[in-house]
Parts: sequence; C-alpha cells; structure tokens
Amino acid sequence: MILKDKIALVTGAGAGIGQAVAQNYAQHGATVILLGRNDKHKKLEKTYDLIQQAGGKAVLVPMDLEHDLGLVPEIVKNLYERFGRLDILVNNAGDLGALTPLALYDNLLWDKIFRINVTAPFFLIREMLLLLKASEDASVINVVSSVAFKGRHFWGAYAASKAALANLTETWSAELEKTPVRMNTVNPGATATAMRAAAYPGEDASTIPQPNEITPLFLYLASHYSKKERGNHLAARDWMDWTP
Ligand code: NDP
Repeated sequence: MILKDKIALVTGAGAGIGQAVAQNYAQHGATVILLGRNDKHKKLEKTYDLIQQAGGKAVLVPMDLEHDLGLVPEIVKNLYERFGRLDILVNNAGDLGALTPLALYDNLLWDKIFRINVTAPFFLIREMLLLLKASEDASVINVVSSVAFKGRHFWGAYAASKAALANLTETWSAELEKTPVRMNTVNPGATATAMRAAAYPGEDASTIPQPNEITPLFLYLASHYSKKERGNHLAARDWMDWTP
C-alpha cells in the first residue's frame, strides 16, 4: 500500500498499459482518476469495474484528448473541490498514427498525433500545476518510446511527437526544480497491447511482456522511493524486478 491516500490520474486508462498502471496504483492504495475515451466499447468503465471489484477506489473522467481539451479547466475545478490536490499524473494515452514514409504523411493525421501525444500532455500538466503543487510530493510520468530518442524510417509523427514529449519533460523538470513536482519519462519497451499489435501485426504477443509485467517502474516513480528522480528517461524493462 505504498500509494495509500495518494490521488493519481492516468490517461488512456481504458486499455493496455494505462489500464494495468491504473489497476496497479489502485492495488497499492491510490484513488485513481481514470481519464480516457468511453465510446461504445465502454473500456474505461471496464477498468473502473475491475478496480472496484478488487476493492480499490476509482473515479471516471470520460474525455477525448484530441477534441475535448476545453473540458480540462472544469475537470481541474472538480478535482480541486473533491481532493484539493493531485499526487500522480501519468500521461499515458497515445496514438500510433500511420507507419508510412514522411513524404507521404497525411497533414491532418500529423496534427492529430501531435495533439494527442504532445499538446494534450503539455496542456494537462500546465492546467494541473496548481493541483500538483498542492501535493507534498507530486510525480508526473510521461510515456514515451525508444523512437523518441532515435528516429526510425516510417515512424513519422509518432516518433517526432514522442521526441517532443521527452524534450518537454526535461524543460518542465528544469522549470519545476524548486517545487514538490518531479517529472520523468518512461519508455515501456515492447508490450503486448493493441498499439503494439498494430505496429507489429505478425508478432506473437505471448513472446513479449504483458502490460501488468511492466508496472514496477510506474509504481517506483509514483512512490516516495523516487523522490530524487527529475528529468530522467527510464526504461520499464530495466525495472521489471523492482519491488517496494
Ligand atoms: P493502447 O492502444 O492499448 O492504449 C492507448 C491508450 O490511449 C488507449 O486507452 C486509448 O484509448 C488512449 N487514447 C488514444 N487516443 C486517445 C484520445 N484521443 N483521447 C483519449 N485517449 C486516447 O496502447 P498502449 O497501452 O501500448 O500505449 C500506451 C502508451 O505506451 C502510449 O503512449 C504508447 O505510445 C506507449 N508505448 C507503448 C509501447 C508498446 O509496445 N505497447 C511501446 C512504447 C511506447 P482508446 O482505448 O479509447 O483507443
């Protein structure tokens, strides 16, 4: 229960890594705000039900990060009235876009990917700064990818957007040095999710880590054990054996 009484917000909590991280945080005592799309598949509600059934605490915040950023100030107001602070923010939601040569990349898709993968995390952090600063010990985790640090042919907007998010993390981290808010990136590495299956359709998903196997780094960064981590880029696969 190392996150007992913590308030955590996870974006893209309805599937894949976000769902596993949300469940893990709830198991360790946090109240988890599940932010994401809740379309006809009701994936966000499924995560909510799984957490409730396991005896954890969760709050649903249905929101599309591409179209609904205008809702964020109202969400912040509600969180302030209900909790007064935010201890953990995981910017996990992401979109792969198209795997295609840059010369052929669709303009509108380029904008969409940057909006979801860069603008949304930037805006959420900025709007939630007062809530984060109200915490004694706040941790922001931005989920990136190995292509953030080395571009690769055909990974287009996804790679460039993750590079921007990694860079933003360094800038935010420097600017927040004298506050209780720390910020780091996590590169999950190959993880068996819908996004990974879309990028590598021929891969046998049982040969790579499942989302619940890569949560230890997310737990470490959310906990007081990581108080000194600032502006670092960490890989989940190096932390799979970590326990509190
Ligand atoms: P998934 O496709 O399983 O999950 C992506 C999540 O992002 C989903 O919950 C999805 O919601 C959400 N999302 C996408 N677009 C929006 C939007 N417009 N508004 C709100 N939520 C949105 O993939 P992963 O779990 O693999 O991805 C999680 C993160 O990990 C991403 O940032 C990804 O880039 C990163 N990553 C993943 C790797 C892997 O191997 N799996 C490797 C490296 C990085 P919905 O379910 O409604 O589509």
